[in-house]
Amino acid sequence: MHDNNKYDVIIIGGGAAGLNAAMILGRSRRKVVVFDSGKPRNRWATNMNGFLSSDGVNPRDFIQKGREELRKYNVEIIDIEVATATYSKGIYVVNDVEDRVYHSRKLLLATGLKDTLPELEGIEPLYGKSVHHCPYCDGWENSDKAIAVYGKDRSGIGQALAMKNWSDDVTLYTDGTEKLRREDMELLKLNGVKVCTGAIARLEGEEGMLQRIVLKNGESREQQALFFSGETKQQSDLGQQLGCEFTGKGVIKTRRLQRSNIPGLYVAGDAARDMQLVIVAAAEGARAGVAINMELQQEDRVRE
Ligand SMILES: Cc1cc2nc3c(=O)[nH]c(=O)nc-3n(C[C@H](O)[C@H](O)[C@H](O)COP(=O)(O)OP(=O)(O)OC[C@H]3O[C@@H](n4cnc5c(N)ncnc54)[C@H](O)[C@@H]3O)c2cc1C
Repeated sequence: MHDNNKYDVIIIGGGAAGLNAAMILGRSRRKVVVFDSGKPRNRWATNMNGFLSSDGVNPRDFIQKGREELRKYNVEIIDIEVATATYSKGIYVVNDVEDRVYHSRKLLLATGLKDTLPELEGIEPLYGKSVHHCPYCDGWENSDKAIAVYGKDRSGIGQALAMKNWSDDVTLYTDGTEKLRREDMELLKLNGVKVCTGAIARLEGEEGMLQRIVLKNGESREQQALFFSGETKQQSDLGQQLGCEFTGKGVIKTRRLQRSNIPGLYVAGDAARDMQLVIVAAAEGARAGVAINMELQQEDRVRE
């Protein structure tokens, strides 16, 4: 193995969390490599909202700018997926999918999550443009529009009520299921949320913009945006490979300063438990970067 493949820190994932950690560690003059498979969670979206000073920028431009800013700190970025990671006796061993091997003293997982879309015909071209899951990311852009909320069981109730923050015109679609209780219906009605229980045939729109929801009974309802709260999964199984503890919601449990239950392994961004926003991911990356650097400083300090 070449010395080239030995690092102070390997960061897996080059989204906001991984890149911000790399910035702190690069500025701390650590030898750092970031591996990235190029699938940030918000790649479907045209705008990234709610990040002070970068509000509304294209997510791809944001990542590109971050990568450029890292150049002067000699952070290496390798555009490849990591297949395996193991830990033994203070050393992390990482293999990329082309079976190259890399070693490091500390490892940061910033591999993010992936979303499961509702199974609705026509949803894919609309996703990220007029079909969303996060009101804090995309609610404002849909202010006062005719907003549909999708939830097959009772899961849509909370989101439908929450969307009243952004529009008076909110309809909850249960897509052919009748799981709402009488008290749910009353609560929704009292708060001005309409309910449609009909089974959905398809979503229709143009250039990414939802125009109507067509029901299986032939009825067509004008809607301008759809919000759903879907399932998320880890984008990579590296956390499981390494023996991380997970919460019931499938995110990795972290302790103070983004530490995991494995020595020298940190987790930041959506993969770890906390709010799932780009600015939070970046902040967690920064926090992990500082903590990792401090741990390395402690280990390397001359004591006698
Ligand atoms: C449609 C949509 C729109 C959104 N809009 C907003 C918004 O407007 N504002 C906002 O604040 N938040 C928004 N979010 C949430 C935001 O995308 C996440 O909070 C943010 O991307 C988390 O950053 P991260 O760095 O943790 O993960 P990610 O950005 O998902 O980055 C993880 C990176 O790790 C890489 N990776 C994963 N596994 C491996 C592996 N094995 N080897 C190498 N690389 C790997 C991936 O390719 C990816 O590049 C949106 C989410 C979605 C789905």
